[in-house]
Amino acid sequence: MLKVRENQKMLANKFRLYPNKEQTDKLEFALDTCRRAYNMMLGELRDQVVIDRNMIQAILPDLKICEPRFREVYSKTLQYECYRLFSNLSALKVLKGNHKKVGRLRFKGKGWFKTINYNQSGFSLEDNKLHLSKIGDIKIKVHREVNGNIKQIQIKKEIDRWYAIIITDEKKQIICGNKVVGIDLGINNYLVDSEGNKIENPKILEQNLSKLKHLQKDLSRKKKGSSNRKKARIRLSKLHLKITNQRTDFLHKITTKLIKECKIIVMENLDIKQMSQQKYFNAKNMMDASWGKFAQLLDFKAENAGCQIVKIDPRNTSKICSQCGHIQDMSLYKRTYECAECGFVIDRDYNSAINILNKLAGQELSCVEKSVNTPLEQTSSMKQEALTSTEC
Ligand SMILES: [Zn+2]
Repeated sequence: MLKVRENQKMLANKFRLYPNKEQTDKLEFALDTCRRAYNMMLGELRDQVVIDRNMIQAILPDLKICEPRFREVYSKTLQYECYRLFSNLSALKVLKGNHKKVGRLRFKGKGWFKTINYNQSGFSLEDNKLHLSKIGDIKIKVHREVNGNIKQIQIKKEIDRWYAIIITDEKKQIICGNKVVGIDLGINNYLVDSEGNKIENPKILEQNLSKLKHLQKDLSRKKKGSSNRKKARIRLSKLHLKITNQRTDFLHKITTKLIKECKIIVMENLDIKQMSQQKYFNAKNMMDASWGKFAQLLDFKAENAGCQIVKIDPRNTSKICSQCGHIQDMSLYKRTYECAECGFVIDRDYNSAINILNKLAGQELSCVEKSVNTPLEQTSSMKQEALTSTEC
């Protein structure tokens, strides 16, 4: 799947679409037709041992002859479903080859197809109108400039809204800073660095919890199959989406800020599971903090900007006195570290962050120095939104 791999180096921007009634119907029709094409091709191919892309593509003309509806969707959009199926089948084959227990690809039920693709052609963008072949000129809100050549447009349906994810070959640069800091991730403060800077945890889930509970209750009260139940489900899905978006937005902002300021970031090697079981027992807080995603974004952006992330053993980082090295027990509720040995008093998380930074000295510094001294490659692109938006 060369095309998809190329996309990973490209920049994706998401814009809201405002299709009229007729265009919405056409978009829905295209989604459902792509779904049918995918299912039909899957039905033909899923039992074949050798998967050949040409074989998949050869099915399309037959479909168009048998059923006129397939002629009403832009041909390359349908072709993209061949690529999609081919890559799915290939991925499955690789897993099977590695002796992983995998099932078969499933047929996609109604409503399970959320995206259609316009690859290389069949679209144009002009004056807040997005022209899509066989659909029309759809109103689009271009809230930021689109630079570079447009390579692909994905049309995505999210609950009852439509979006265009415009993928261009523009290279966006992010350059790392000069600081060397340790960071401690936590619940009360999301992040404290070894210079004492704090970022509070926005606790997005907690903020929306009462509303979430209310909507869930609302949904459970509605009669099954009724239109009121459908409406209640949409309201609930919208809130879930809003929470996810807010959280992702927060994580993007703090990771970009860190990379822009630092050349080396030292952090604990997060074993999320271990954290949930021992350090913090509250699973809800854990989910809300999403440190896993934080680490993922940070790693990705660091690599592109030439910033080094060093992960250290988290043992005793909260128990050591950053002033004298004395080790004492620290229960979870204690927010202040008071050293029994030297009398040093410091905020608990700040103390941990300093200890985390200090552990850098115990690491294989040669590899850190090497990568810092070599000229930093800053030409890589950053696909801030591509991470979340290119999934199908
Ligand atoms: Zn001390």
